[in-house]
Amino acid sequence: MTPAQRQLVETILQRFGTKAATTDAETIAPWLSDWRGRYHGQAPALLSPGSTEEVAAIIGLAAQAGVAVVPQGGNTGMVGGATPSPDGSALLLSLRRMNRIRALSPVSNLAVAEAGVILADLRGAAEALGRRFPLDLGARGSATIGGLVSTNAGGTQVLRFGTMRSLVAGVEAVLPDGSIHNGIAALKKDNRGYDLNQLLIGAEGTLGIVTAATLRLVPGVAARAVAWVGISGPGKALELLRALEAGTDAVESFEIVPENTLALVLRHVPGTRRPLAGAHAWHVLIETVTTDPAAEPPAETLERLLAPALDAGLAEDVVIAASEAQAEDFWRIRHSISEAERAAGPALQHDISVPVDDMPRFMIEGGAEAEARFPGTEAIAFGHLGDGNVHFHVRAPAGVDAQTWYAEEGPGISRHVHDMVVAAGGSISAEHGIGQLKRDELARLSASSRMTVLRAIKSALDPQGILNPGKLVTLAPEPSRP
Ligand code: FAD
Repeated sequence: MTPAQRQLVETILQRFGTKAATTDAETIAPWLSDWRGRYHGQAPALLSPGSTEEVAAIIGLAAQAGVAVVPQGGNTGMVGGATPSPDGSALLLSLRRMNRIRALSPVSNLAVAEAGVILADLRGAAEALGRRFPLDLGARGSATIGGLVSTNAGGTQVLRFGTMRSLVAGVEAVLPDGSIHNGIAALKKDNRGYDLNQLLIGAEGTLGIVTAATLRLVPGVAARAVAWVGISGPGKALELLRALEAGTDAVESFEIVPENTLALVLRHVPGTRRPLAGAHAWHVLIETVTTDPAAEPPAETLERLLAPALDAGLAEDVVIAASEAQAEDFWRIRHSISEAERAAGPALQHDISVPVDDMPRFMIEGGAEAEARFPGTEAIAFGHLGDGNVHFHVRAPAGVDAQTWYAEEGPGISRHVHDMVVAAGGSISAEHGIGQLKRDELARLSASSRMTVLRAIKSALDPQGILNPGKLVTLAPEPSRP
């Protein structure tokens, strides 16, 4: 620990008590690696403020001392954004103690949640009031509001309700000089120039520490239907989605899963079962809902719309969940893909987007191209087809040593995938952000105008570079850029 770090920790302990900071290595250890186990860092202390005022005081002191901090929520991020660097030069700043839902109103349809509130808890609290926070993802039991805001998370309901960016109505944050940005009020109209709230959403903790957010709620679900569809390929799947959308505006989720990925889940996640008896090359999970108890039940809507799709050969086979338990079983398969893949062995993840209509071609041709170029690998694409966003993963050949494969093959494979994405006019990060995983790729593949603006924003707000250093964008131009 440097003298400046030690002085900072001692001051925090004196002012805010033992809950606010620890240097105990055992307590800190679980938070030093990312969820996938790809990044391992060091931090001499874990800071855990209990209020916005404490965050402001800590960041103010850190700024004076020039001590860097890495903000962390549930540590479920996929790009190493919440993992400190291995040299111990930054302290970890956990927001998990700030887990109060300050307000939740069915009248305003808004919730004000502190950064450490866990997604599942917010969803549960909204449901208890007949409302819904319409963002969901596999890490719902650990991911926090601060992390979701800071990564502009997406998930399985983006199709209908958008990403966090469209669900956040206000942000409270501590800026790198320790001042508090109070943008928590939900103003439908606000034209005071640059929108600082929007700047903080998706900033990955590099511009400010999100301490609370005002979030939009939607009416609670009266009934839902969940269907599992066997299908011949992504092109047919997109046609099916368009056919469904022509018949209902209540399609919430439309997730595509290839057969080899379903097989992986069945192999590694106990209690999962194949939803359809026959073999299909691809599968689609569909959810439709209604908020009106008097409306046509969603299962009937789906039946009405899927029957002609079957007749027309868009779908090969369909099962609509007969109970909530069966619906949950279908969803469990989708939400367990990351877990199954982690158990199966090393894989390189690319959460990419291309224009929606080009996605079926990209999934098939891109996968074949990657496998041909890197023999022994398996390329799979699954996820949010309707958003033009899939998880394009390249799995390692059987039996390789994970760390060696990541180090020796990883950069080349990811560069190849990203080059294909850029050639298709897409984005190398549709959901998970940049973190440390894609920082150099962002610099390599972005127009210099974009990088100049990103660096200018970073250096204007955080001139010392004390917030989440080494993530997203560095203050100095990357050496690889001309
Ligand atoms: P962390 O991992 O702790 O942090 C993520 C980033 O945000 C880091 O850069 C961190 O420094 C920063 N940060 C955290 N809290 C704050 C704060 N209060 N202020 C400022 N910066 C902060 N993501 C999707 O978008 N869609 C999915 O479908 C999806 N599915 C997932 C499924 C699984 C099984 C898992 C493990 C992850 C999935 N994710 C998905 C990724 C992850 O859940 C999201 O990125 C989530 O937003 C991270 O929240 P967190 O609280 O864990 O943040």
